[in-house]
Amino acid sequence: MKSNMLSGKTALVTGSTSGIGLGIARSLAEQGANIVFNGFGDAQQIEKLYTDVGTEFGVQTAYHNADMSKPLEIEAMMRFAADKFGAIDILVNNAGIQHVATVDEFPAEKWDAIIAINLTSAFHTSRLAIPGMKQKGWGRIINLASVHGLVGSAGKSAYVAAKHGLVGFTKVTALELAATGVTCNAICPGWVLTPLVQKQVDDRAARDGLSNEAAKKALLSEKQPSGEFVTPAELGALAVFFCSPAGDQVRGVAWNMDGGWAAQ
Ligand code: NAD
Repeated sequence: MKSNMLSGKTALVTGSTSGIGLGIARSLAEQGANIVFNGFGDAQQIEKLYTDVGTEFGVQTAYHNADMSKPLEIEAMMRFAADKFGAIDILVNNAGIQHVATVDEFPAEKWDAIIAINLTSAFHTSRLAIPGMKQKGWGRIINLASVHGLVGSAGKSAYVAAKHGLVGFTKVTALELAATGVTCNAICPGWVLTPLVQKQVDDRAARDGLSNEAAKKALLSEKQPSGEFVTPAELGALAVFFCSPAGDQVRGVAWNMDGGWAAQ
């Protein structure tokens, strides 16, 4: 529901050209926040995407193409956001990639990339955003971890290590900021049907000779008791709650929205 709860505030959402990041960016814009988008994709499509969000919700939007595996590019993105809007009020660390292989066959460069993008980038953006948030006396850091920040799955060593690391990083950040108006929390989704998961559906369909629909059902039935995907809009609503006054004392949680996955 549209409101002006976050008007005058600026949110930077990493990896917001697609999937969950885009859903969260839209939910924050719906509450009146200006948005700095980030992520990869076709330049024209990205320009249309952030212009359309600005027009739809009557907020200012901008985009920076920093690669979250490169600290110097992250620093440039944070300077760009500060120059454009002043300090960032809401930081959503969402960019992430996946690779599935057993430990003994896991490509070392994929391990490094997953740790850099899914974990280390959140350290760099946070260390650069926190001083401005502290100065303003208000801030929100939201880390997109995963149900894989709470439990493991075979074949996902780097991802599970990065996401468990991100949950730990969330707790420490929240504790260090506990006596300030800046909160830090993690969101732990189960399966969400985004390009990141569609690739796993496609791999499953090819491996087991299944249709797209049957492969989706197979993935869900293995892990997610609800049998339904979580949606980016639902995750966006949780991010909005963290940004609301009711979220002032929610600090250091790893909140799963996973159709019951981690309850088993
Ligand atoms: P997605 O592939 O749809 O989106 C990923 C986004 O990150 C894209 O905008 C992409 O351009 C960006 N990105 C990738 N590498 C980048 C880099 N080096 N620098 C900057 N941006 C980069 O994936 P998604 O499913 O929306 O995933 C978003 C986050 O949610 C990830 O951290 C993922 O681990 C997490 N997550 C996803 C699911 C799921 O089921 N889809 C479940 C739990 C957690």
